[in-house]
Amino acid sequence: MRLADGIRKHGFRKWYERELLQSHAHLVLTFFCMVGVFAAVEALGRNRAWSDQAVSLLSILLCVAIGLWALRRYMYLLSHAEAAAHQADCPQCKAYGRFAVESENDAKQTCEVCCRKCQHRWTISD
Ligand SMILES: [Zn+2]
Repeated sequence: MRLADGIRKHGFRKWYERELLQSHAHLVLTFFCMVGVFAAVEALGRNRAWSDQAVSLLSILLCVAIGLWALRRYMYLLSHAEAAAHQADCPQCKAYGRFAVESENDAKQTCEVCCRKCQHRWTISD
């Protein structure tokens, strides 16, 4: 979900919370994939039949691929949320995360926001 759409739908604080939860869910998935890799390596050492070894190798490859994707997604979501959070302070009254999205510029990937406390306007980059 794009920054402006997410903030419009949920408000900044809820959007930020959801992004952090989603990113950490991907981190948990990465951990489970690591456990899967270790279990498949263990099974690879025990099985002698080539079909069982092929299944173990396939499991290792699958867990590594999913784990790398989940880790990359975790890093992206976390850095995206943190980048937005660093711009969420009103430059005038210093209120944190109390703004509404006024307009968005898709070409520059920015959105114009307005402070709910003092009505000051500033730009947040996505
Ligand atoms: Zn303000």
